[in-house]
Amino acid sequence: MIGINHHVPGRGHSPGLLRRFYYRLRGAEQVLVRPAAELPLLLISCAKADLAGVDRLRQSVEETWLTLPENYRERYAAILEQAPPLVVVLLRRRNICGCLGHHHPPGSESRLVRRLRGLSGVRTGEIDLAFEAIREWEPSPLSQPALVSAADTAEMTSFRYQLALLTVFLHELHHLVASQEPEAVVRSRSQKFYGDVLADFVSRHFGVEYGLRRESDDAPAPFEDAPR
Ligand SMILES: [Zn+2]
Ligand SMILES: [Zn+2]
Repeated sequence: MIGINHHVPGRGHSPGLLRRFYYRLRGAEQVLVRPAAELPLLLISCAKADLAGVDRLRQSVEETWLTLPENYRERYAAILEQAPPLVVVLLRRRNICGCLGHHHPPGSESRLVRRLRGLSGVRTGEIDLAFEAIREWEPSPLSQPALVSAADTAEMTSFRYQLALLTVFLHELHHLVASQEPEAVVRSRSQKFYGDVLADFVSRHFGVEYGLRRESDDAPAPFEDAPR
């Protein structure tokens, strides 16, 4: 179990300096992604060696999102309406602090965002996502479906990863548009979104029940400050 830690970059620790150093060493790539109409345009920035992560995130926002039943997507409709039309995603394998992602409040954004704003005048937000940490993130299941075939297991694993990327992305967008909203509110929405969508997927694809532990159970909440 891992959580998204919500401290603001620059407070407490300074990933910025290390990130710049890392980019300078390995070279950065910027990939523009135009997902489904209701999602913002994304400019994904990552180290050249991490382009595999870009493909997974792109797949999440371009394809996986559209496969979700309308009623789940609608839960984020109000947030998506307020989201900046352009969002820069700083994508990396892991965060030094162990978090799955952060939102970057006004004033803490990278030079890339300031440059984009200056060039285009378009309202631009910024978040970071740690794609390997997200892949490994597993909220504890109440009941793990016994999938008989290796193909089913592979399909389930792949969907979980796509959904987890989408969930952390939406979680950070929620923070971006509602900075006054307490973490508990933001977290409970994304946690419920993840659990409900996954249960729906499993029942539709495999015809078995699947549930996640609720926050009130002994397991720590998946979006709590619990870097490992
Ligand atoms: Zn952090
Ligand atoms: Zn949060």
